[in-house]
Amino acid sequence: MKERGNLFILSGPSGVGKGTVRKELFKKNNNNLIYSISATTREPRFKEKDGVDYFFLSKNKFEEMINNGEFLEYAQYVDNYYGTPKSWIDKIRDEGKDVFVEIEVKGAMQVRSKVSDATFIFLLPPDLEQLKNRLILRGSESDEVINERLKTARQEIKMMTNYDYAVVNDKVELAVKKIQMIINTSRMKASRVAAEYIQILEE
Ligand code: 5GP
Repeated sequence: MKERGNLFILSGPSGVGKGTVRKELFKKNNNNLIYSISATTREPRFKEKDGVDYFFLSKNKFEEMINNGEFLEYAQYVDNYYGTPKSWIDKIRDEGKDVFVEIEVKGAMQVRSKVSDATFIFLLPPDLEQLKNRLILRGSESDEVINERLKTARQEIKMMTNYDYAVVNDKVELAVKKIQMIINTSRMKASRVAAEYIQILEE
């Protein structure tokens, strides 16, 4: 029997480029990773396909799935629901294959509380340290807006401590490389490799 597959969670603040990084990672498709297609109630965008980019569901259907406990996590983001169907992930992991999930921060924290053996990767904007100075220097925003953004940024930084790895998205190529490194490292964890060997020895 194979060791259960890994679960990788890529998350981070909105606008950081999670989708772009994830698409680039899968373009290369040499990672033996399976992408978890989320469900959403938002309308498909140009060229998006049902069952490829998302499972596009009605609000009623989504809420029915919530009530049936069919989501590993779900969150509301800009008036729409987004969620990760659970049974599919369990099945793929049970087959020994690795699953990759790209979700926003609230959802990632739900997974954190439910799945103890997942690997959490936080994608950071490159200019976080300079954010404050930039906001102040720019001078175009009111104090209220600056404070609101700083508050969000602070909350986001705090969230980062709940993750296993943090990757700065300065250049997409570079961020993808770092994520590949994290994936490869996680696969070599002694606890995982040992479990497989012990099984073989016992057989
Ligand atoms: P978009 O509408 O631009 O495709 O996605 C909006 C946000 O929802 C992004 O931050 C994306 O990472 C997040 N998202 C996509 N799928 C899921 C999901 O299944 N669960 C959660 N919590 N967030 C998701």
